[in-house]
Amino acid sequence: FDDRDGTIWMDGKYVPWRDAKVHVLTHAMHYGSSVFEGQRAYNGKIFKLEEHTERLFASAEKLGMTIPFTQADINDACNKLLEMSGLEDAYFRPVVWRGSEMMGVAAQKNTIHVAIACWAWPSYFEPEARLKGIRIAISDWKRPDPATAPVTAKAAGLYMICTLSKHKAESEGYDDALMYDYRGQVAEATGANIFFVKDGVIHTPTPDCFLDGITRRTVIDLAKARGYEVIERAIMPEEMEGFEQAFLTGTAAEVTPLSEIGPYSFEVGEITKNLMFDYDKLVRGEL
Ligand code: PMP
Repeated sequence: FDDRDGTIWMDGKYVPWRDAKVHVLTHAMHYGSSVFEGQRAYNGKIFKLEEHTERLFASAEKLGMTIPFTQADINDACNKLLEMSGLEDAYFRPVVWRGSEMMGVAAQKNTIHVAIACWAWPSYFEPEARLKGIRIAISDWKRPDPATAPVTAKAAGLYMICTLSKHKAESEGYDDALMYDYRGQVAEATGANIFFVKDGVIHTPTPDCFLDGITRRTVIDLAKARGYEVIERAIMPEEMEGFEQAFLTGTAAEVTPLSEIGPYSFEVGEITKNLMFDYDKLVRGEL
């Protein structure tokens, strides 16, 4: 992904895509001291840009990193990059990391770096598969206890179990994986939140040990606007047997219906379709 044309904003400068490099002794690479964001532009406008930038700063703070730019600087850079890219629809990846001045677990004085890239990334899952519902496996890896890691930060280190889970799921023919949490409750997929529908009511796990996604909150608002009841609560795996519909939400995944979670099957029902439709309209400023 590094060998292509384009521009990346890096520490306040616009640099050619191929030149946006870091040293091998970067603290982030050895100790996971990195946080990031993912946001999308639709029809030339970045959806919920301010919320994503706020979360980037909050994630950095949870890892003890002070970003040497203002939120307005980051928002401006994102908007400028979109303009420079000439894209109408784009995915953005802002990333913050600890630099390479000192090589040790403690590196309080290392420079905090920031970069932002944007590119065309149409659909996280294949469009056809999305309409039929995707199939996800159940991971053996558990989302950690909040006493174990800063679980509400969008921190690179927390994605180690996501990559392991997703690689295993893909090697078994699935599209993604669902992770339970340290208590054995249903948590989230490797890069998206999860929802279920039963008897016209929407159920979703309380985000007390994983990311409370910006898409998750948006979809809850859309559901309520349609008059659907949304219950945030602890969901046990056995309950999946009785749910009729299931879907994922995330910036990359948008609203993606599920047809299977391990041994459990679901239909792509009306509530899921309505929320997919509403989300597409909302992000394009058509709702
Ligand atoms: N959980 C994880 C692990 C994620 O990576 C993402 C994507 N950022 C989400 C949930 C959904 O978050 P959002 O809707 O803010 O993109």
